[in-house]
Amino acid sequence: MPQQINQNMPSYLDSDNPGPWGVFLEQVDELSKWTDTLKHPERSLIVDVPVRLDDGTIAHFEGYRVQHSLNRGPGKGGVRFHQEVTLSEVMALSAWMSVKTAVVGLPFGGAKGGIRVDPRKYSQGEIERITRRYTSEISSIIGVNKDIPGPDVNTNAQTMAWMMDTYSMQVGTTQPGIVTGKPIALGGSLGRVEATGRGVFIVGVAAAKDADINLDGARVSIQGFGNVGGTAARLFTEVGAKIVAVQDHTGTIYDADGLDVEALLAHVKQTGGVGGAANTTAIAADEFWKIETDILIPAALEGQINKHNADSIRARIIVEGANGPTTPAADDILTQKGVVIVPDVLANAGGVTVSYFEWVQNSSSFYWSVEEINQRLEKIMLDAYHALTATAAEHEVSLRTAAFITACTRILEARQLRGLFP
Ligand code: NAD
Repeated sequence: MPQQINQNMPSYLDSDNPGPWGVFLEQVDELSKWTDTLKHPERSLIVDVPVRLDDGTIAHFEGYRVQHSLNRGPGKGGVRFHQEVTLSEVMALSAWMSVKTAVVGLPFGGAKGGIRVDPRKYSQGEIERITRRYTSEISSIIGVNKDIPGPDVNTNAQTMAWMMDTYSMQVGTTQPGIVTGKPIALGGSLGRVEATGRGVFIVGVAAAKDADINLDGARVSIQGFGNVGGTAARLFTEVGAKIVAVQDHTGTIYDADGLDVEALLAHVKQTGGVGGAANTTAIAADEFWKIETDILIPAALEGQINKHNADSIRARIIVEGANGPTTPAADDILTQKGVVIVPDVLANAGGVTVSYFEWVQNSSSFYWSVEEINQRLEKIMLDAYHALTATAAEHEVSLRTAAFITACTRILEARQLRGLFP
């Protein structure tokens, strides 16, 4: 009898001969012995990134690449350029990528990278040299079938083009599949730019249907009107919903009859934010969270829905476009109020899903139409949504808990089947 079972035996059973209960405990221990693997990233690399600046001096930046879990496939996760990035942050983000790829059933593990640099302080040439040296430093652990970076905070299609070129120069052949989020001209995928907002829309529509919300005339509020929020707003208005409130870093605007989304997108393109848009009413930032709405989409920053505003939220569904927009305390308050939260690991997984399509297209050098991409995206997002709602109903838990149950089970099942080397 394993020591663990003896220790956990209830007093009313004979610890030396517990009968069938002992068999059950052995089965639990069989799977649970792998859970600690989730607490240990497989590989964490810290690199020094020395770069010659425009003034001739040499600066050093700290860079990281963490592969949390590679059990289900190559690592996948973005590269973040930020002056406050830490190894702990990159480790956590890599683990959330493991969960996200497993929730939507993509054949990837989780990874993440970052450089401690404030990109606003450096010229385009300096950023290119930082990107290239970083790519070269992490090239021993990334690879088309090992770990595929993508863009994240302060990195973009150009950054990915430099990473792809640097890696290709090192291995001697053009390797478009080494990164995703590339420009279309270098093997990027159609539909990638709007994929995350489209994914938010797809699961938002499914959740609305489950909540008996008629989308024709449904009220939607959105925080963040950038790539994710702007795309979701456009798609929701196309099916008859009204965007009643939008908040971004320049202001908060409201119109009970529905904002003119096309005009607003044009205004943001021209001025950089929604503040001051014509024919809209400006309201105080705090008021945004109190607006009665059917669907609330946080698509800006983390921690926006917290214990200070959760109680005043009057939404029926929250679809998390941003990463980590709801704190655990707010999660509890909202769940008690009966608000359905479609968690970030599902709701914003449209981006990594189309990144997967980009990688598949690069591998086969055969490119799909945007219609094919959107159709496949919709199927993957809806299948994942329905799997989570079924798990949530079965275990009487929130969709977020269901997402973690689903993802961790998939990761540990793969771990268990592969066994331990050597
Ligand atoms: P973006 O830069 O295009 O837009 C960000 C938006 O947030 C802007 O409208 C900005 O004004 C707003 N914002 C910034 N600070 C704010 C503040 N203090 N208050 C209110 N609004 C503020 O970024 P994006 O690509 O749309 O990403 C939005 C969120 O979605 C982020 O959390 C990001 O991590 C997450 N996400 C994005 C993708 C993707 O593919 N773009 C994928 C997964 C998750």
